[in-house]
Amino acid sequence: MTSSECTQRLLLQSLWDWLRDQQTVLRSPFFPVLFSLTVYLSCCLPYACLDLLCSRLTLFRRFKIQPQRKVTWVMAWRCLRKIFHNHVCFLLPLSVMHWYWKPVVSPPLAPDVPSVVRDVLACLLLFDMQYFLWHLLHHKVPWLYHSFHKEHHLNTATFSLTTEYTGVWEMLSLSFFSMLNPALLNCHPLTEMFFFITNIYLSVEAHSGYEFPWSPHNLVPFGLYGGAQHHDLHHLKFKVNYAPYFTHWDRLFGTLWEEKTQNEE
Ligand SMILES: [Zn+2]
Ligand SMILES: [Zn+2]
Repeated sequence: MTSSECTQRLLLQSLWDWLRDQQTVLRSPFFPVLFSLTVYLSCCLPYACLDLLCSRLTLFRRFKIQPQRKVTWVMAWRCLRKIFHNHVCFLLPLSVMHWYWKPVVSPPLAPDVPSVVRDVLACLLLFDMQYFLWHLLHHKVPWLYHSFHKEHHLNTATFSLTTEYTGVWEMLSLSFFSMLNPALLNCHPLTEMFFFITNIYLSVEAHSGYEFPWSPHNLVPFGLYGGAQHHDLHHLKFKVNYAPYFTHWDRLFGTLWEEKTQNEE
């Protein structure tokens, strides 16, 4: 093991030891819901501030995908109400049931860095596939679209808080996929936490409505990653770009729509 690998391992172990010391918090039946809400709102906050600044400063407006569309307090408040309602009325009872039937386990050893990276990426790829299939089905079958997915399409221009503006069935399906994958891959609880944080951040980024030079879409090579531009086009055009993060499923199913294609038409 090289010295840098040793340092990374030590850092993860210190973090894991600290988390294990917070057992009363971690083992609380309310922890999953509070953790999910806190991570989600923390990821939305910088973009919400940008939305506020955008109406005053042109400097930020050039990074906005649909600069003519403004985010109003009414729109933001409607999303916040829905998010709190879904978390309190549906996720909280489920989280309490899960806590009752499956107590939290915390092994003494932290995972190593390569296994964290490998497992988080594998969970993301699996989630991407599951959501692509769920999403395609809920657009192709009109009854499914109108009953369960239409609500998420209320906004034709995305902004961060629209990420979790969904009906109950959609929220429960997505929560189920994100909990299933770490269990399927037998991930370490710390890896599971990293996956939840990454997954929430990437879905907020995809709905942020901003495309920066440092956005994941511009950092991942060969157009393998869609991101904000990709998902904003889905909200605008409905029948394209069904995958939440990567582009390979849309490429394979012929449903990929890129900015270049749009400009050519
Ligand atoms: Zn959709
Ligand atoms: Zn969306």
